[in-house]
Amino acid sequence: MSRVYNFSAGPAVLPEEVLKEVADEMMDYRGTGMSVMEMSHRSAAFQEIIDEAEKDLRELMNIPDNYKVLFLQGGASQQFAMIPMNLMKNKVADYIVTGQWAKKAYQEAQKYGKANKIASSEDKTFSYIPDCSDLPISPDADYVYICENNTIYGTKFKELPNTKGKTLVADVSSCFLSEPVDVSKYGIIYGGVQKNIGPAGMVIVIIREDLISEDVLPGTPTMLTYKTHADAGSLYNTPNAYCIYVCGKVFKWLKAMGGLEEMKKRNEEKAKILYDFLDSSKLFKGTVVPKDRSLMNVPFVTGDKEMDAKFVKEAAAQGLVNLKGHRTVGGMRASIYNAMPKAGVEALVAFMKKFEEENA
Ligand SMILES: *Cc1c(COP(=O)(O)O)cnc(C)c1O
Repeated sequence: MSRVYNFSAGPAVLPEEVLKEVADEMMDYRGTGMSVMEMSHRSAAFQEIIDEAEKDLRELMNIPDNYKVLFLQGGASQQFAMIPMNLMKNKVADYIVTGQWAKKAYQEAQKYGKANKIASSEDKTFSYIPDCSDLPISPDADYVYICENNTIYGTKFKELPNTKGKTLVADVSSCFLSEPVDVSKYGIIYGGVQKNIGPAGMVIVIIREDLISEDVLPGTPTMLTYKTHADAGSLYNTPNAYCIYVCGKVFKWLKAMGGLEEMKKRNEEKAKILYDFLDSSKLFKGTVVPKDRSLMNVPFVTGDKEMDAKFVKEAAAQGLVNLKGHRTVGGMRASIYNAMPKAGVEALVAFMKKFEEENA
């Protein structure tokens, strides 16, 4: 067996301990004589899996009792429509556009009401987070929307926007469980799990109970109504059961590591190794304004497309894979999620140093 260091932005690296555990339980999950893949979602064994996953997530994130945790399908992108369909009572929402995912959410919301772009960083290819301390929030806005960590561009909101009392909705796909958050500051926090938590195909939505109701936009499908899933404990229909199971394992792994305070420490330490090198390098440079740098996604360039391609190719030959930047940005991007060990970042930086010497 030979494992690589996988710097993919998603689907992404998972903890080896978790992969080994699910492999061990593949043929016979705890005496049931079957894999979780083969199990009824109405079985007692699965009910225990989903209950425990929710309990562990609540503990990790310190989720208040007046929030529901939903395990839904359709990925993060499904939420781009589900959020306005359920929350746009006044048919007005404000969007802060800091990258492609926020832009997609903003464009989707326009189908359902008046979506206002109240701030953007598109003028400088999304390389920074705009000042959000005093934005022109619409008086009748149903919510203010952000993408908290911009997976493609490598920026992160270090401070939440001043929503002037309006409900904050955040896509945290690529920073989910990377550090502690105060859930009570949000109406909805949601994220696709394939970036920092588990396998692809599921989104976790943490939603304040008062935002869940039958009063949704006319024509909203049953499956896209939060209330449907909240009332059924995420078991209205067959959920992505295996994904819930693997995510539950990752929650236990995070708890065993010391929880989100400890993850934040580790993530800061890992990111510092890479950013410090980028700041001192003559060949490579980071593309993001330093104060807005993400701990999870680190884009960088040499400034020469051919050199970038050479680097990506040679790095892959050394077992440092998926370093190519997003197709819309070019250059490189190292995604260094929770499950990327410090040794992986050290190996990347050592290779970058060697490459720089060889290509000076
Ligand atoms: C990957 C990503 C998405 C899209 O996720 P899907 O599950 O593929 O729909 C949305 N938002 C952010 C921030 C992402 O990183």
